Amino acid sequence: MKNLLGGKGANLAEMAGHEDLKFPVPPGFTITTVVCTYFYENENSYPKGLTEDIKKAITQIEKLTGKKFGDRKNPLLVSIRSGARKSMPGMMDTVLNVGLNDQTIEGIINQTKNPRFAYDSYRRLIMMYADVVMEKAAGLEPTEGKGIRKIMDEHLGEIKKAKGYKADTDLTTDDLIAIVKDFKKIVQEKLGKSFPEDPKDQLYGGIGAVFSSWNGKRAVDYRRIEKIPDEWGTAVNVQAMVFGNMGEDSATGVAFTRNPGNGENKFYGEYLINAQGEDVVAGIRTPAPINSYSKNDQSKNLPTLAELMPEIYLQLEEVREKLEHHYKDMQDIEFTIEKGKLYILQCRTGKRNGTAAVKIAMDMFKENLIDARTAISRVQPQQLIELLLPMISPKAESTTKPIAKGLPAGPGGARGRVVFSSEDAVKWAEKGEKVILVREETSPEDVDGMHKSQAILTSKGGMTSHAALVARGWGKCCIVGCGDIEISHETKSLTTKDGTVIREGDTISLNGTKGVVYLGDMPLSEAIISENESYKSLMELVDMTRKLRIRTNADTPHDTRKAISFGAEGIGLFRIEHMFYGEGSDRPLFLLRKMIVSRTEQERRTALDELFPYVKKDIKETLEVLNGLPITIRLMDPPLHEFIPKNEDRLIQLSRELGISLSDLRKRADSLKENNPMIGHRGVRLGITYEEISEMQIRAIFEATAEMITEGKDASPEIMIPVTCTVNELNHQKIIVEKIHNEVCKKFGLTRIPHSFGTMIEIPRAALTAGKMADTAEFFSFGTNDLTQMGFGFSRDDIGSFLPDYMDKKILSADPFQTIDQEGIGELIKFGMERGREKRPDLKIGICGEHGGDPESVKFCHRIGMDYVSCSPFRVPIAKLAAAHAVLEEDAK
Ligand code: ADP
Ligand code: MG
Ligand code: MG
Repeated sequence: MKNLLGGKGANLAEMAGHEDLKFPVPPGFTITTVVCTYFYENENSYPKGLTEDIKKAITQIEKLTGKKFGDRKNPLLVSIRSGARKSMPGMMDTVLNVGLNDQTIEGIINQTKNPRFAYDSYRRLIMMYADVVMEKAAGLEPTEGKGIRKIMDEHLGEIKKAKGYKADTDLTTDDLIAIVKDFKKIVQEKLGKSFPEDPKDQLYGGIGAVFSSWNGKRAVDYRRIEKIPDEWGTAVNVQAMVFGNMGEDSATGVAFTRNPGNGENKFYGEYLINAQGEDVVAGIRTPAPINSYSKNDQSKNLPTLAELMPEIYLQLEEVREKLEHHYKDMQDIEFTIEKGKLYILQCRTGKRNGTAAVKIAMDMFKENLIDARTAISRVQPQQLIELLLPMISPKAESTTKPIAKGLPAGPGGARGRVVFSSEDAVKWAEKGEKVILVREETSPEDVDGMHKSQAILTSKGGMTSHAALVARGWGKCCIVGCGDIEISHETKSLTTKDGTVIREGDTISLNGTKGVVYLGDMPLSEAIISENESYKSLMELVDMTRKLRIRTNADTPHDTRKAISFGAEGIGLFRIEHMFYGEGSDRPLFLLRKMIVSRTEQERRTALDELFPYVKKDIKETLEVLNGLPITIRLMDPPLHEFIPKNEDRLIQLSRELGISLSDLRKRADSLKENNPMIGHRGVRLGITYEEISEMQIRAIFEATAEMITEGKDASPEIMIPVTCTVNELNHQKIIVEKIHNEVCKKFGLTRIPHSFGTMIEIPRAALTAGKMADTAEFFSFGTNDLTQMGFGFSRDDIGSFLPDYMDKKILSADPFQTIDQEGIGELIKFGMERGREKRPDLKIGICGEHGGDPESVKFCHRIGMDYVSCSPFRVPIAKLAAAHAVLEEDAK
C-alpha cells in the first residue's frame, strides 16, 4: 500500500478505514505514485482521466462534509500534502486552506461568525502557496537572496512590532485583513504573478507542485544519500481541512505513543491552542504539554490538555493504545481539535534516539507486541554508541551554535580546558584539570598527553590519522581535520573561522559523534551500561542470533577488561609494540631504543635480553585477564625509526645512557631513516633481517603461556606475522617459532605449549597467494586498513586532501577506510579466503582493521563466511548487533 499511496496516504486510509482503528480522519483522497511516474515519463503531463477522477473524489468529499469546493456560501477548503514511501525532507511542504479567495472567505465568515479565523487562514494560504507552489516548486531563485516566505514573515514581524504584540494570536481581524492585502501585493511584486483566486487553479497548482518537487534539487540530493530510487515517485494527498485556529476551543498538536527521548512507555506530546499546521514545531509560541508527564522547564506552568479538555485527552489515549497494537511500534501522531472535536491527521513510525530505541524494542518484546527478531531489527547498531559513551546533552546542543566543524573521529561528548601540547596535557591533568588537547596533528609521542585528555581536537588529518585511530581505540571523543580552526603555538591560542579566539585554559566542548565544537561548558549525560536492563536483554537476544564471533583490538589488561565487559570473545589484535607507548613505558621504550641503535648483533641481543622480561610480563597480564579466551598476538609491526626520539632532550638522555656521543647517535638514527617507511623496513622484514628480534618476542609469548599452563590456567595464543607478501617469509619465521617452542618446552618440562601460527593478510600479493600462504598459516587475519591502503594506492594519512572531492564528485560513494570497499578490496578478501580454505578447510579467518566496528563491513564479513571480526572495545556491542542483523537480513532473503 505504501508503495502506491506513500507513507502518509496509506496510514491515513488505514486509520480512517481499518476496523481496529476507525479514527476521526478528515475525508480526502490520494493521487498515487503511479501518476507521478507517468508525469515524469510523459513530459510533465497527467494520465487521461485524472481530472475526471479528481472531480469525482472532490464530489465525494463534498458529500461527506456537506460543503462545496469553491462555493461562496458553504465552501470546502482542503490541504494538499506530499507523501513519498519514506518521509523525505526536500519534498513539497503542505499547503493548507486551499480554496480560499475573496469570495469564499465570505462564506466562511458567515458560517463561523469568526472573521478573525477566516483571515488568519487566508493569510496562511497566501504565504504557503506563494512559498511552496509559486516559488520553490517553480524553481524560482529568491530575489535579494530572500525567499518570499521570509519577506512575508518579516512583514508580519514589523506589524507585530509596530503594534506592540507578542504573539501571532494578538493580531486583530483588521490587522489580518490588511496583511492579506499586503501579502497579495508582495506576491505580485516579487514573483511577477498574482496569487490565483480560482480555487481550481489553486488545487491543480498545488498538485503539480508536489510532483515537481520530486525532482527538486533537495529531494534528489536526499535520494542519492539515502539510496532511494528515482522511480518511486511521490503521492499527493488532498484532504478536507479541519481547523485548530477557530478559537480557544480549538488546537493542534503532536504526540508520541512513547517517550522518544528515553523510551519510557508514557504518552508524550505537545499542543497549541488556537493554532494551525506547523505552529507547534515552528516554535512560534511555547507549546503546552498534553499531560503532566510531558512538562518541561519552559512548559511546566502551562495547562495540560488532560486538564483543559479531559475528554479529548481520553480519546487521544485511546488512539494511542489502538495505534500501538495495530502498528506494533512507537508512533508519532499529528492531531487537530476543531471546536472541541478531535481529528487525527497523521501517524507514522516515530523517530527516537538510541536509548529509547533499545528500551522500546525490549519493552515491546516483553509486552509480546513483537518477537525477538523484530526487537533486534528495531535498533540500529550505530545507535548503541549513545548508550556506551557520555554525550553532550541534546537539549543544550539544540540551543547552542557550534564554533567549528571537523570530522567525527571518536564518538561521544567531552568538555575541558584547552591545552596545545601533550606535555601541558599531562601536567594539567596531574593537577586534576580536565583538558582537551588541541594540535595540528598527533604522533606516537603524544600518546601520553592524549590519554590524559578528555578529548582530542586536530586541525589536520583524516578519519584514519593517528589521532583518530588512537582515540577510536580508546573510545575517546575526538575531532580531526577541523580546518575551521587555526592554531598559534606562539600565543597558545586558536582562532576559528568566524574569528572567535580561544586561549590556553579556556573551556570548550566537543561532540565527537557529529564532529562539532562548542565554546564553553556544555552539560554531559553519562551512561552506565551495566545498569541498563533493556540493553542487557537486547544483547542476550543478539548473542543467540548472530553467528559471527566478535573479538577486540586490545593491547593492555585495562582495555581487555573493558572489552570483555562489553562482551568481547577474545582479542583479534594484540600489538606488541603498544607496550612502548603510554603509561609505564619509559623503561621498556628506553631498552627498545637501545636495541634499535645497537650496532652489532651482540649489542642487540644484550638489549633484547633486558627487554624480554617486560614483554613477557605485558603478555602474561593480558593472558590472565583473558582467562582462556583466544588472543592473536602480532609481532612488532612499525619501522624501527618510529621509536627514535624526535625530541632533543630525549636524544641527549639516550646518548648518555648508551655511552655514545650525540652525533654518533644521530648518525645511527639517520641510517634508519627511510623515504617511504610505510612500505619500508617493518613487520616481518625486521624479523628476517634481525632474527633475534622475532626470537625475543616469540620466547616471551611461549614463556608467558607456559607459566599460565604450569599455574593451571588456560591460555592459547595465536602468533601472527605482519606485513607478509610471500609464504617464504612465513616459513622462515615458522622455523624460529618451532625452535623457541622446543626450548621453552624443555625449560618448563612440557611436551607442547598450545599455540597456533598465522599471518596478517594486508598486502594484495599475500591475498593473491593465499593458497600458498595457507600451507604454513593456520589462520588469516585480514588487516583491512593496510589492505585498503595498498589495494587502492591511497595513503591513509593523506587521504583527507582528496577524499572530500572524491565524495562530492561521486567518484567514491564512501570512505573505503571506514567501510570495506566490497567490490574491490572485498573481492581480494573473498579470493584470499577461498584459496586459503581450499588448501586448509579449517583455516580460521577474521579481520582486525578499523572496519571490524563498521556495521556494513561486519555484515559483509558475515556474508562471506568469516569466523570473527575484531574491533575496538567500544565498538564490540555495535559489531555484535550488526552481526545479528546480518543473520536477519540473510534469512529475509
Ligand atoms: P509533513 O509531511 O511535513 O508532516 P503534513 O502533510 O503532515 O506535512 O502537514 C503538516 C501539518 O499541516 C500537519 O501537521 C497538520 O497540522 C496540518 N494539516 C495537514 N492537513 C490538514 C488538514 N486536512 N486539516 C488541518 N490541518 C492539516
Ligand atoms: Mg505531518
Ligand atoms: Mg598493518
